[in-house]
Amino acid sequence: MNTLSITGYTRDCNCEHCGRPLKLGVVTPEKGTIGADCFVRLIQRDTKRYSGNGKPSAEMVKQYALIIAKGLEYAARQYGYRASSFVFQTA
Ligand SMILES: [Zn+2]
Repeated sequence: MNTLSITGYTRDCNCEHCGRPLKLGVVTPEKGTIGADCFVRLIQRDTKRYSGNGKPSAEMVKQYALIIAKGLEYAARQYGYRASSFVFQTA
């Protein structure tokens, strides 16, 4: 199974997936720095994890990137997130 992980963000860059200019790029070890919209498109639906269409919104993905950039300890303390909270299965 392939995964896509969020490890941080980069401001004012280009999406390494589609080339679109981005105000905030999501850093992934697997696919480089990509846009939140592309991130959402690349991951698999998981209706156990997210209600509605089974995916986080692009806005949520950006929030995850901002949060994990401050470290996993911060993410756990402030939001109760775990390392797995930032890892997604790809479609
Ligand atoms: Zn893109």
